[in-house]
Amino acid sequence: MKTLQKITLLIVLVALISSCASLKGNSASDNKIDPVCGMKVDKSDAFHYKYEGKTYYFDKYECKETFKMNPKKFIVK
Ligand SMILES: [Zn+2]
Repeated sequence: MKTLQKITLLIVLVALISSCASLKGNSASDNKIDPVCGMKVDKSDAFHYKYEGKTYYFDKYECKETFKMNPKKFIVK
């Protein structure tokens, strides 16, 4: 009986982990590209900076500072 409980728990865990993974995949539209280094950044935990009415997202504080110093260099029009 105890073994069965362990297996059930394992199945529940695997289901939870895979549903989390698919959730992450679905939120791909929330990913922004850091204009400085080209890295994908998650909007929820990214550094952001507003410039000319648009918000730009960065993976690192350094990238944000680099952008602030010369935004025109990184904006592709
Ligand atoms: Zn960056």
